[in-house]
Amino acid sequence: MDVLPLIYSHLTDLVIDPVTRQFSGIFDLNGRLGVLFLFVSYTVAYCLFRFRKHRGLTDALSFWQFIGGNRVNFHRSALLDYRYYFVRAILKITLVLPIVGLVDPFILRSGDYIAFFTNLWGARPQPGENLSLSLVYGLGVFLVKDFVHYWAHRAFHSRWLWAFHKVHHSAPVLVPATASRVHFVEKIVEKLTTAVCLGFYAGVFWYACGGEISRYTLFGVTYLVFIFNGLAANLRHSHVWLSFGPVIEHVLNSPAQHQIHHSDAPRHFNKNFGTNLSLWDWMFGTLYVTTAKPESIRFGTRERDHDRYLTIYSLIVTPFVDTARKIILAKRPQPVPPEASKTPYS
Ligand SMILES: [Zn+2]
Ligand SMILES: [Zn+2]
Repeated sequence: MDVLPLIYSHLTDLVIDPVTRQFSGIFDLNGRLGVLFLFVSYTVAYCLFRFRKHRGLTDALSFWQFIGGNRVNFHRSALLDYRYYFVRAILKITLVLPIVGLVDPFILRSGDYIAFFTNLWGARPQPGENLSLSLVYGLGVFLVKDFVHYWAHRAFHSRWLWAFHKVHHSAPVLVPATASRVHFVEKIVEKLTTAVCLGFYAGVFWYACGGEISRYTLFGVTYLVFIFNGLAANLRHSHVWLSFGPVIEHVLNSPAQHQIHHSDAPRHFNKNFGTNLSLWDWMFGTLYVTTAKPESIRFGTRERDHDRYLTIYSLIVTPFVDTARKIILAKRPQPVPPEASKTPYS
């Protein structure tokens, strides 16, 4: 058996391909940081600047100032986000993909579900590939992913997972690269939950259709991802207030709504967990809608934490330290208050 080609093929699958994908993500359309989507987002921001300037609604003297100027875009936290964007690529190859790869064989795939249903009810007739099925299948993939993200995001706001998600919320200024300021543990959970749910969805859908259906894509990305990224998704992590208005925001998540999610004001806590759709927030009681009038928001997790997330090391290690401390404290027997200890039986 020729071992070298085998090693090479494993290396290509595990290391070279993800590296190429990750770094080409800056230049192609797949990543949210793709140049086209960045361009669209800043074009929308520029139109907003002209509109607000014309109506005297902004004090910004220039477009650079309107998008935060040096104060935001060269803030220590923003510089950290730019560096972390590349560190994240290394973490993805060294930790995320190998760990996901270890769990992957235990996840039921679409083929498993198809085999199960075929055994149960027999094979379905094959209608063949057609555009409407591709569109419906793509819509389903989009909805399943967005729904899973909503609940995974909510779970990461819970007591035991918060330390990991806090990495994302610790940014006191928001720039498009902040979207990538995500702890690798959160990435692993997100990838695995999405794989489990999409495996089931594809299995059921493909069985019902009698064969594999591909998603309809535009320039290589699922058409709905293309549309939503075109809706200025990069402005979610920015200081540019873009509201879709209270009615539309019941369904579509606006950049302003995500900025509310990053606010450190108690009235904004645990609101707007949605990624593309806020429909889930509306359905499950976590919706907060905005208007054209910007709200004054301070981003981050309060001053106490600002000094704790200023290095790449702290972004990666602090969540583990905090969680370990939380577990130790929870296991330690709580001291009983003197009054409570005086029971009638003591
Ligand atoms: Zn969050
Ligand atoms: Zn965010």
